[in-house]
Amino acid sequence: MFINERTKPHELIYYEALSARTSLMKKESAKFENVKKGYEGEMLYDQIFDSIGHGNVLIYRDLFLSIDGSVTQYDTLIISDIGIISNEIKNFSGSVTFRDGSWYRGNFAIPNDAFSQLNRAVGKLMELRNTSRSDFKVSGKLIFPNDNFTFHSDDQSNWNKIILRSGLRDYFRQFNQSGIVAGNKAQYISWLISSSIVENPYFKPAVDKTRLKFGLYCGRCGSFNLSKKRFHLTCNKCGSTECNETHLLRAMNDYKFLFYNQPMTRNSLLEFIDYDLHFKAVSRALLKHCYTNNKGTRTTYTFKYFDFEDAVNKSDAYMRYKDHIPMI
Ligand SMILES: [Zn+2]
Repeated sequence: MFINERTKPHELIYYEALSARTSLMKKESAKFENVKKGYEGEMLYDQIFDSIGHGNVLIYRDLFLSIDGSVTQYDTLIISDIGIISNEIKNFSGSVTFRDGSWYRGNFAIPNDAFSQLNRAVGKLMELRNTSRSDFKVSGKLIFPNDNFTFHSDDQSNWNKIILRSGLRDYFRQFNQSGIVAGNKAQYISWLISSSIVENPYFKPAVDKTRLKFGLYCGRCGSFNLSKKRFHLTCNKCGSTECNETHLLRAMNDYKFLFYNQPMTRNSLLEFIDYDLHFKAVSRALLKHCYTNNKGTRTTYTFKYFDFEDAVNKSDAYMRYKDHIPMI
């Protein structure tokens, strides 16, 4: 069973917000595509695992674990009474060759050796096990969920470390076998993992504010050309209508990920939306959708939700039903 949600990676939301408000540089576009593709691979993995069923195991997704002073990211950890299996998901496509310790697409070397990355991640879990003086198995696999991927290797032993799409369903089926259970030992391992979870420490965007277009934009087509009504904004380009609250939630989401960990005040949010809405509407939305931190005379706000989507799903008495997004 899935223990936690797989949320979009911070970087992906950052690039979504950035691309909505400025034109991306070549390097940024490439990174954006890469992160998007990685996330799509993870969702595909979850979907296939869901279709097979995973009631006998505990599954953690997209975690950062602090083990012995360093932080490692894990795409998926599968826990049973036997131990932990780390699955590193690589949404590679096309034909890729592994030779002499490097990955190649044609003659181009792909940076970062996925095998080393997997070994490091598994090694860290072994450290966690050893320092807790427990006894369980730790192993890992590289998972390639894209059916448009072929792998060639000069070393036959590498085939034991990878699961291709053609073998993925069978791989998942083994977790449904009767010998696999998530009993007391799995609960203990799960507790060990939970106690090591930390926030992503590597996400430290440094966006140049002067590049950004401030204001509100259409959630459907991205246009900043909106007409104000009392409670809504209507896009002059595609005709979509979204209520003020939807726009403010999207702005708070963008603010969170573009200026990560930087304080948000009413004035800084007003400036960010280019004063497109009345300060009273902004105040109301901040009080409803943020935690308030008072420091002396200055009040800052922390977005209650992970991101815009989370806000839309969770916020009660939310007026999204009043949005009108015309069908294409
Ligand atoms: Zn529009």
